[in-house]
Amino acid sequence: MRADVIVIGGGAAGLMCAFEAGRRGRRVVLLEHNERVGRKIEISGGGRCNFTNVNASPGNFISRNPHFAKSALARYTPADFVALVRRHRIAYHEKKLGQLFCDESARQIITMLLAECEAAGVEVRTGCRVEEVRKDELFRVSTNRGALESESLVVATGGLSIPKLGATDFGYRVARQFGLKVVQPEPGLVPLTLAPRDLASFQALSGVSVPAVVRCDGAEFAENILVTHRGLSGPAVLQISSYWSRGRELSVDLMPGADARPLLLRRRASGAELQTALGQNLPKRFAQVWCEAFALRKPLRAYTDAEIEATATRLHDWRVKPAGTEGFQKAEVTKGGVSTDELSSKTLEARRVPGLYFIGEVVDVTGHLGGYNFQWAWASAHAAGQFV
Ligand SMILES: Cc1cc2nc3c(=O)[nH]c(=O)nc-3n(C[C@H](O)[C@H](O)[C@H](O)COP(=O)(O)OP(=O)(O)OC[C@H]3O[C@@H](n4cnc5c(N)ncnc54)[C@H](O)[C@@H]3O)c2cc1C
Repeated sequence: MRADVIVIGGGAAGLMCAFEAGRRGRRVVLLEHNERVGRKIEISGGGRCNFTNVNASPGNFISRNPHFAKSALARYTPADFVALVRRHRIAYHEKKLGQLFCDESARQIITMLLAECEAAGVEVRTGCRVEEVRKDELFRVSTNRGALESESLVVATGGLSIPKLGATDFGYRVARQFGLKVVQPEPGLVPLTLAPRDLASFQALSGVSVPAVVRCDGAEFAENILVTHRGLSGPAVLQISSYWSRGRELSVDLMPGADARPLLLRRRASGAELQTALGQNLPKRFAQVWCEAFALRKPLRAYTDAEIEATATRLHDWRVKPAGTEGFQKAEVTKGGVSTDELSSKTLEARRVPGLYFIGEVVDVTGHLGGYNFQWAWASAHAAGQFV
C-alpha cells in the first residue's frame, strides 16, 4: 500500500499533523498501536485536558537550543487552537495562570481531532504497531498488519512517560537508525523522592501542601509544594523537576513575599514560640515538623540575633536534596529527545534525511506544566503538516 504521508503515532501531534497534511490534498495514513488514539489526551488535565496556555511563549520551553521552538510556536499560537476548539463548540474555561481546560471532557478534544482527520480524508489505523522503518526511494514501514510505503514519514511517537498508555522508545530508535543525535531522555514534570533520612521527618506531613517558591539551576516557580509519602510533589516541584539533575539541591522559600527576619524579631519580643509563630504563615502541622527537624532546641525568646538571622535564611532558602525522581511511571513528560540540531525549525524535517519528520514530545523540546506541552504538540505538528 502506498501513501503520500505516513504518520506514526496517534497522539496530539500525530493527529494534528495528519489532518493539516490531508487538508493540502496529501494522501495520509496514520498508524497507532493502541486500540484507540489519544490515550494521553484522554487522561490529561485530570480528564479535562489543559489543551493550551494563553501565555505560551518560548520561555516556557526547555531544550538544548532554546531558540528552536520559536518558529513553530509563532506560526501556530494558542489563539489558533482556541479558534479550532470554538469551531467545534467545545466549552472551555481558564482555570489559573492562562491554563485553558474543557468544561466537560478531554474526550471532546479527541473527537474534534478525529473529525478534522475524517474531513481531511486521513485514514486512521489503530491496533497497528510499527515495527521497522527503512528508506530506499520511498520510506517503507513494516507493521504487525503489513507493510506500507510513502514519500514522507512523520514520527510522532511521543516520549517514554506512562508506559502503560503505550509509550515506546520507537521514535528515538528511528532517529538513531538514521544517524541522528538523541539528547538523553529523562523524566520531566515528575515528583521527586527524598532519601530515607529526610523522609523520616517529613513522612508525617504526607498530603500537606504549602505555597512556596522553588528554585534550581536558574529557574524558579511560585506555586504549591506537596509532601508525599515518597518525597515532594505539587505544581512547584513538578515544574522544577524539569530543571533538576541528580546531586543538585533545591532552594525552597517557605515564606514567599514575606520577610521572615523582622517577623521573627517581633515574635521573639512578644514571647511566642517559633512553632506557634510560624504556624501563622505555614500550615500548623508543617510548622511543627519543620521546627522539630530544623529549629534550635530552645524557646524563640532565647534566640540571639544571629540565630534569628540563620532561621530566617533557612525559611527563605531551605535546602532540600532530592534522592531521585519517581521515574517515567509518574512523569508527565520526557525531557530530551531527538536533538534539535538535526531538525529544521521551520519544517521539523531531519536535515540529513529528506522526507523524515519528528514532531511533538519525541523532539528535545519540553514545556512547563500548564498546557504548554500540548501547545508544542499542536505547533510542531502544524509546522510539519504544511510541508510533508
Ligand atoms: C498524566 C498526564 C497528564 C498530562 N496533562 C497535560 C495537560 O493537561 N496539558 C498539556 O499540555 N500536557 C499534558 N501532558 C503532556 C502531554 O500529554 C504530552 O506532552 C502530549 O500528549 C505529547 O503528544 P505527542 O503526540 O507528541 O505524544 P503522545 O501523546 O505520547 O502520542 C504518541 C503516540 O504514539 C503511539 N506509538 C508509540 N510507539 C508506536 C509504534 N511503534 N507504533 C504505533 N504507534 C506508536 C503511542 O501509543 C501514542 O498514542 C500530560 C501527560 C500525562 C502523562
